[in-house]
Amino acid sequence: MSEGFKQAIWKEKEKVLEPLIFEISVPGRVGHILPKACDKVLREVGDVLKSIPEKIRRKTPVNLPEVSEIQLTRHYLHLAQMNYAVDLGFYPLGSCTMKYNPRINEEIARMDKISRLHPYQDASTVQGALELLYRLEKILAEISGMARVTLQPSAGAHGELTGLCIIRKYHEDKGEIQNRREIIVPDSAHGTNPASANMAGFNVVTIPSSKEGCVDLEALRAIVGKQTAGLMLTNPNTLGIFEEDILEISHIIHNVGGLLYYDGANLNGVLNKVRPGDMGFDIVHFNLHKTFSTPHGGGGPGAGPVGVKEELVPYLPIPTIEYDEKKGIYYLEYDRPKSIGKMKGFYGNFGVIVKAYSYILSLGAKGLNEVAEVAVLNANYLAKKISEIPGFGLPYAEKPRKHECVISAAKLKAETGVTAFDVAKRILDFGIHAPVVYFPQIVEEALMIEPTETETKENLDTFVSVMRKISSEAYGEKEKVLNAPHNTSVGRVDEVRAARKPILSWKMYQKYKS
Ligand SMILES: *Cc1c(COP(=O)(O)O)cnc(C)c1O
Repeated sequence: MSEGFKQAIWKEKEKVLEPLIFEISVPGRVGHILPKACDKVLREVGDVLKSIPEKIRRKTPVNLPEVSEIQLTRHYLHLAQMNYAVDLGFYPLGSCTMKYNPRINEEIARMDKISRLHPYQDASTVQGALELLYRLEKILAEISGMARVTLQPSAGAHGELTGLCIIRKYHEDKGEIQNRREIIVPDSAHGTNPASANMAGFNVVTIPSSKEGCVDLEALRAIVGKQTAGLMLTNPNTLGIFEEDILEISHIIHNVGGLLYYDGANLNGVLNKVRPGDMGFDIVHFNLHKTFSTPHGGGGPGAGPVGVKEELVPYLPIPTIEYDEKKGIYYLEYDRPKSIGKMKGFYGNFGVIVKAYSYILSLGAKGLNEVAEVAVLNANYLAKKISEIPGFGLPYAEKPRKHECVISAAKLKAETGVTAFDVAKRILDFGIHAPVVYFPQIVEEALMIEPTETETKENLDTFVSVMRKISSEAYGEKEKVLNAPHNTSVGRVDEVRAARKPILSWKMYQKYKS
């Protein structure tokens, strides 16, 4: 983290950046030599291809890039040098829990005995893998205060959909689904919550936050009723504040026959301190790729296990992992008539599950406690230090934060015209990833910061000094902030055009160029 930070720029004469792999392609060039044994296989594949009817065969060539091995190696290394990662520097992207992921977890997940298993293998040959799944389920159930857990969903949003399918099935079973059409979601919720509720066929009802930044109990009482299927809640919420009225909220929802869903994507701040089950929640999803240490960002792989209370266990996806004590064997149980069915092929993202298991065992209960304590300490430290800098403030300041804090740059914007967006861009120049901006929407000019427990105090202090420097630039030579970033491989991009008219493939790019 310093102003000396500079991302690689591979500028060719007439081209702006590292060319696309297609642009360095030369017909006939190859980057690999297949073993002789492949000749026979290729001949066989050729024979199979010939048997495909002419009319459904591809007419145009596939246009794969043709490059040498060293061209390929350099191309991807160049791209890596233009990228940013948690292994390079501070990554305070709010709600994403970009903590350091210990290498030991990677090593274990990549061991041949684990990575070379095949999901079609007979259960008798993969007893160790089943035992690991079984044990992780028990651990997550203990951490969350739930009766049982499915490890099947492959992301947080996928876990939400799984949980909502369970809510639907539960109300169906009671013969009430025709009337119970509504899922209540606070206005500070993660965008996936309303999206998942919608996908599961529910209508979404939004409730506003109170002036303390929590669920407004009066507003909640006013909208619940026989139409309520459930409430989705993030606690601590996206402001980083713990909903102290959670038992009352649980009472209000259960009183009208609804279920309480816990968005446990960011369990970091309460890990081993409080349990969703004890707060009255019926269903919870975990993001193993956030709280339980799997590298993420850029699309996965992740895992979003879902835990449920006793009453909802029959609805869990099939198969469940069971242990036969008499025979001393683990097995997969498909015979569960009330199950919502399958949510994913096989049993979940096994590699991610192994990493979470390794992470939890290496820390132990005491270590998990410490994760929460340091994560909370770091978030409050930054909240305090940054809110003292001119232009920045901490809305809803009455309550302490948990895993993250949301700083507002509204004052900075009013006094200098420099926005949260500009600040985020300038942060990049110091070798730091930007915070989440403009979320949650209840905070003006929001900068959502989650330091996590794995950063040193020195790093946090450097970040504070960077924020202080940006503030003084904004009140002085603000061009530097308005035109940032300057030290990155790619300068300020036209985000509106990138969102509205994205160029996502080689074909689209060629069309755009012509
Ligand atoms: C990240 C996150 C999600 C979604 O998780 P994905 O794995 O990205 O689908 C849901 N809720 C909250 C609060 C989150 O932070």
